[in-house]
Amino acid sequence: MRPSQVKKFQEQQTKFASSVSKRTKRIKTLWNKIQTQKTSDFCELEELVMEAHKLAGTATTLGFVDLGECGRDIEVLLKPHIENKTLPIGDEDIERLISGIDDIAKIEPKRPDDLTYGEVTLLHEQDRTKQLVYVVAEKPEDATEMVEQLQYIDYEVAMFETATELKVALDQEAPSVLIVDLDDFKLLDDITKVWRKNSGIPLVVLSATECWESRLRAAKAGAFTFFHKPVEYDDILGLLDSLWETNNAQYRVLIVEDDRTLAEHYSIVLQGAGMKTCIVDSPDHLLDELGEFHPDLVLMDLYMPNCSGVEAASVIRQHAAHTNVPIVYLSGETDLKLQMKALQVGADDFLTKPINDLHLTQAVSIRARRFRALSAMMDRDSLTGLLNHSNLKMALERELSRARRHKSPVSFVMIDIDHFKSINDKYGHPVGDKVIKGVARLLNYRFRKTDTSARYGGEEFALILPDTPADIALRLIDEFRSTFAKTPFSNGPETFTATLSAGIATFPEFDSIEGLIEVADSALYLAKERGRNRVVTHVELGNSDDPQEKNTA
Ligand code: GH3
Ligand code: MG
Ligand code: MG
Ligand code: MG
Repeated sequence: MRPSQVKKFQEQQTKFASSVSKRTKRIKTLWNKIQTQKTSDFCELEELVMEAHKLAGTATTLGFVDLGECGRDIEVLLKPHIENKTLPIGDEDIERLISGIDDIAKIEPKRPDDLTYGEVTLLHEQDRTKQLVYVVAEKPEDATEMVEQLQYIDYEVAMFETATELKVALDQEAPSVLIVDLDDFKLLDDITKVWRKNSGIPLVVLSATECWESRLRAAKAGAFTFFHKPVEYDDILGLLDSLWETNNAQYRVLIVEDDRTLAEHYSIVLQGAGMKTCIVDSPDHLLDELGEFHPDLVLMDLYMPNCSGVEAASVIRQHAAHTNVPIVYLSGETDLKLQMKALQVGADDFLTKPINDLHLTQAVSIRARRFRALSAMMDRDSLTGLLNHSNLKMALERELSRARRHKSPVSFVMIDIDHFKSINDKYGHPVGDKVIKGVARLLNYRFRKTDTSARYGGEEFALILPDTPADIALRLIDEFRSTFAKTPFSNGPETFTATLSAGIATFPEFDSIEGLIEVADSALYLAKERGRNRVVTHVELGNSDDPQEKNTA
């Protein structure tokens, strides 16, 4: 565990320790009540099982191993009584466990270091806002265009001509990726002496020759990808995008668990691995949180008061918007038949408590990644990878309801490439496509974290900026506009630039999806009318948003 996790873990231990006497007292009270019970009412027995179950899960997870085992034993002994509808009156084994529970509770918990939790890697430790790329090129002039392209979209690039220079830089700071532009494989041999396969830095080889022999040499050297020169820079940028995505995938996990302490523990573990979490301790709020938090995975406790995990899962599946989100049960239930039954309502897997941290992190991230990849295919536009039109509307709906609740602003932006028809006419459709992809890529780089970008239609884009009032949105979009205007595109040996215009409408000034879209569109139209390559907000619209004019856009 990292030091910050150890501290949080110890805080949780202390918190749990202070609740132990209350928990054991409740168990004893329930047990005594059952012993003198005259009616065949099972409420108290059920509550007792629930208490023992909670103890088994939480205590073990937080290092109170003996107490956890005691809870588990009580639970196991009580279960048959629940199934057979009998009261465990005078059961000596249970009696012995319960009367000794206070002594067991006095046993010191294990320290975090003594627990066999796996090391969890933090994906977000890097603070850099720009990704660092190292390029080694024998002939620097060959690589200049690529370096410029990378710099335009905010990569920080350092160029070297020899392996010796590279070594000096590697000793100072590790890049996100190492690109080697080769004419001759001798350079690669030198580089493998200073760069190690297991360094975690992906190696990309650009080679003048494309024979099997070259590919094999690159693969043997440990290259992650091989490109034959001349390289289509789009491909390199695409590759870097996907590397970036993998390293920064902040999966969102919704934890449904009635035991707050346990939920917080899972939350800390998953956050430690770079994920974002949200805890729901009562299923009443489940649907609201699902809609707003938009998880990549739901971690579902099986036993909760009022509603079981299986019931909660079937409610989730009734909603069209949530039919695909992975649901993973997390429970002490080891009965295979019950597990199968729980999975039948459309959940994806079953993890058994107590679960070690590394296992939990891996189980969650593997499923979350698969879900992201699948939804990316379904929800995204194939040319740009941005959200498509219908998903944009869902995202806008979500952001609006969040903004209403938090009383925060949201800006909605419509973007349209200027004179795009003439770009197509002059350079051809495939080059036009490259420009569309260029806008998408820049949107991704500039606005990644909490913002949503979408391809609205042909050469039109939309962007949702939460917590952003109109004046700030104007500044951001104008910077974006000016960066785009400077980004070069190539058509064979020739390079050219393109411009775009944008319109902005902001909530709460405009309060509905339709209103925001219509006003942003009018502002965009005004930007076009005023000469293009500019950004206009609803503030400047005044009387210019005549619907008649809009229709001619
Ligand atoms: P304005 O500055 O007023 O926006 O002028 P414009 O030429 O950009 O606008 P217009 O709407 O007249 O033309 C848009 C063109 O975009 C027409 C269409 O053929 C082209 N287009 C739409 N989708 C795609 C696409 O996916 N790829 C390419 N290459 N072109 C597309
Ligand atoms: Mg529970
Ligand atoms: Mg258009
Ligand atoms: Mg246009």
